[in-house]
Amino acid sequence: MNVLLVFAHPEPRSLNGALRDVAVAELKTQGHHVRVSDLYAQGWKSQIDRADFPASASDARLKPAAASGEAFAAGTLTDDVKAEQEKLLWADILILQFPLWWYTMPAILKGWVDRVYAYGFAYGVGEHSDRHWGDRFGEGTLAGKRAMLIVTTGGWQEHYAPRGINGPIDDLLFPINHGILYYPGYDVLPPFVAYRVDRLDENGFDLIADRLRERMRTLATTPPIPYRPQNGGDYLIPSLQLRPELVEPDTRGFALHVDGAAARARDNVGMRRFREA
Ligand code: FAD
Repeated sequence: MNVLLVFAHPEPRSLNGALRDVAVAELKTQGHHVRVSDLYAQGWKSQIDRADFPASASDARLKPAAASGEAFAAGTLTDDVKAEQEKLLWADILILQFPLWWYTMPAILKGWVDRVYAYGFAYGVGEHSDRHWGDRFGEGTLAGKRAMLIVTTGGWQEHYAPRGINGPIDDLLFPINHGILYYPGYDVLPPFVAYRVDRLDENGFDLIADRLRERMRTLATTPPIPYRPQNGGDYLIPSLQLRPELVEPDTRGFALHVDGAAARARDNVGMRRFREA
């Protein structure tokens, strides 16, 4: 398969740099074709501005979404953006790798999303009607492909547990997993998270690297997070609220958008495999 790894760390000799090398080596060993977008090395421009739309009139009021849609349709987006879109269409699997900075991705990676996810490419796709609210959340340009995050944190795993002070990691990563990856159609795999890494020793590194290699070996078979598709009947259109009869007792917030029954079935299969191993 074709794998694109988008890497967002300023230092190649960092822990993240070492983990990227581990992931790429394992993917190649598995026979995958790998491309890496190293955003700092590429000098990626993070901000959307007028320079992104060279064909737009320079004195016109800049409306980013409209300008993005026009430039995408006309083929006049900048070459750096077009190159990343081409890689996304090439890749069967997308991996975003980054250290958690202030509870989210580094600004350079957010800027990659802002600019590469053009209107007509990643959003504003498909029929908008009373029955179908656009091709998104499970449908869209990147449907049928898989995506996952590789994330490192300074905080401990307990800090990201359900009662941990930082909030549950699944909640912190929901805007990326659901809002950025599931939105344009990806099946989103559970994230790979390495916690408490700031004072890592060789032994700690080896354990993380082994876990990462295992995730790279199982990219094609790991069940995705069972997010609920938007147009499959679970949501009322146009309010886009989950049907009240689907809300399980004690489920609130982001977890509402995961199909609880499917998640339990997935976890049971996982536990069975774990016990049999
Ligand atoms: P590095 O600093 O490169 O390395 C970490 C450790 O791993 C070092 O001890 C290093 O010696 C060791 N190491 C590196 N490579 C190897 C190797 N090959 N073999 C063995 N050991 C190795 N954390 C949170 O939890 N939540 C936040 O919201 C958060 N916000 C942050 C905001 C900013 C702006 C910054 C700078 C940090 C923040 N952090 C936060 C901490 C951050 O997530 C971690 O510092 C980061 O994940 C560490 O990854 P790194 O690649 O930069 O590690």
